[in-house]
Amino acid sequence: MQNLFTANQFFNIFIIALSLHTLTELYLNFRQFIFVKKNSNTVPEFFKEEITLDEHKKAANYSIAKLKLSSVELIWGVVVLLFWTKAGGLEELNKYFSLSSSSPWYLPSLMILSFIGLNIIISLPFSLFKTFSLEEKFGFNKTNLKTFFLDFFKQILLLFLIGFPIASLILWLLQSMGEYSWIYTWLFWVSFMILMQWAYPVILAPLFNKFTPLEDKELKESILNLLKRCGFDGGGVFLMDGSKRSSHGNAYLSGLGSKKRIVFFDTLLKQLTTTEVESVLAHELGHFYHKHIQKFLLRYVAISFVAFFILGQLLNATWFHKGLGVEGTFIWNFLILFSLSLSIFTFWMSPFINLSSRKNEFEADQFAKQKASASDLKTALLKLSKDNASTLTPDPWYATYHYSHPDILTRIKKI
Ligand SMILES: [Zn+2]
Repeated sequence: MQNLFTANQFFNIFIIALSLHTLTELYLNFRQFIFVKKNSNTVPEFFKEEITLDEHKKAANYSIAKLKLSSVELIWGVVVLLFWTKAGGLEELNKYFSLSSSSPWYLPSLMILSFIGLNIIISLPFSLFKTFSLEEKFGFNKTNLKTFFLDFFKQILLLFLIGFPIASLILWLLQSMGEYSWIYTWLFWVSFMILMQWAYPVILAPLFNKFTPLEDKELKESILNLLKRCGFDGGGVFLMDGSKRSSHGNAYLSGLGSKKRIVFFDTLLKQLTTTEVESVLAHELGHFYHKHIQKFLLRYVAISFVAFFILGQLLNATWFHKGLGVEGTFIWNFLILFSLSLSIFTFWMSPFINLSSRKNEFEADQFAKQKASASDLKTALLKLSKDNASTLTPDPWYATYHYSHPDILTRIKKI
């Protein structure tokens, strides 16, 4: 693909894709804004008994505040992207590290990590605003500046501890494995991702939260029974101190093999009755029964194969580098430019990915219905929705594109 485009042609294609991506998301935000606002003054008929008008209005205002922030972030993202590419930001970073083909092996990895680190710092004002202004205003924030910055420094530290060896290995593979280097890199990347799935619940997540085995006397017996009935052979059920940072509640299944675990946020557990906990647990066990994590990984393996194939073809394409504002064809620049372009050229896939994720939720709900009580699952979902001030009236287009979980009305009706 050496002569597929000229640098200018590719830059134009890049700008068209970037505009399409940005305008699509802004338009969807706008649709959601109008839809939520229009429906904010009356509680939908179906929820009249359970949700008060005040709760409904709060959810609408919260959704709207998040939409406004997300729109500003989108536009800021475009500015940052153009800064790194066409405006020469990446070229400057190369100069700062005095990178050339004879640089020592660790310098390019350091440059890649600095690039990621700088982007995290650039987005810091948004995280600060989100936590201490937006979430605070709606009464959800439970964190303080100390925890916030401790989290921030832990993330940066992890980035270097894990990122440095990974970046160095990828650069080495791409540089020294010849024509099919992309296949070796893909194999390495996929193995790393699977290892992370396994390691996340046992090594990474405990660095940020406390996980304790769920040992409530009343609950324990019913939980053990349910696990046995569903053939769950993992590490068990854990309680996470989510209340340390936010009052939003959640429950999830994570990990692989003997390390997989079901996690309840303490914030959610506080709100649920014993039988409701059972129904949520049964839902998570539904994900386990249907092997949703494994299926997700398999699909990831397939999609990433295509991505790495394309990566292999573009590796030495001058038009790709020059079109995005970088001279020469150095692998470290290529990796950054490739990952920056990826989301812009693949955003249209997100409704399909979310569609399959929503299908999984329905499957897990159906499983829960069989193994626990349907009415408990409904009330538990409603409490979860209230906890998170999710809107009851999303715009259908917005939901199709963004929602990884079905909206609450569709979900309850299906149960
Ligand atoms: Zn689920």
